[in-house]
Amino acid sequence: MSDLRELYQQVILDHYKRPRNFKKLDGATRQAEGNNPLCGDQITVYLHMDGDLIRDISFEGAGCAISQSAASLMTTVLKGKTKAEAGALFEKFHEMVTGGENAVDPMELGKLAVFCGVKEFPVRVKCASLPWHTMRAALEGQNGSVSTE
Ligand code: ZN
Repeated sequence: MSDLRELYQQVILDHYKRPRNFKKLDGATRQAEGNNPLCGDQITVYLHMDGDLIRDISFEGAGCAISQSAASLMTTVLKGKTKAEAGALFEKFHEMVTGGENAVDPMELGKLAVFCGVKEFPVRVKCASLPWHTMRAALEGQNGSVSTE
């Protein structure tokens, strides 16, 4: 298990140092901002929607390794997904990091499983879920900002 944990940490650090899809999206049809005042994390998520399909997604932001790598990984899994699929992934991810009653098998989450250890650090849960809350706000067309507080 400790080897797995080490691998997960390496993936998180890699996405923190070299974030994927880190840019303002040209042609974005929706965007939202998220803030986690507890940690100082900031995220802007850009979506290019084609009907219900996420044709493209990107983000900009600053903050801790967990929040920024969570945003980076999120963009890599959501590109090409439908609004419904993105919503379902949000629910599963949220269950995993909060360690909810309906414990999710991390393997169901593919590469997002690297954040399964977050549930042991309650203060980090908001960091990991901030990009997802922000993405959902953008998806719902709530242009504006969300806060974890
Ligand atoms: Zn944070």
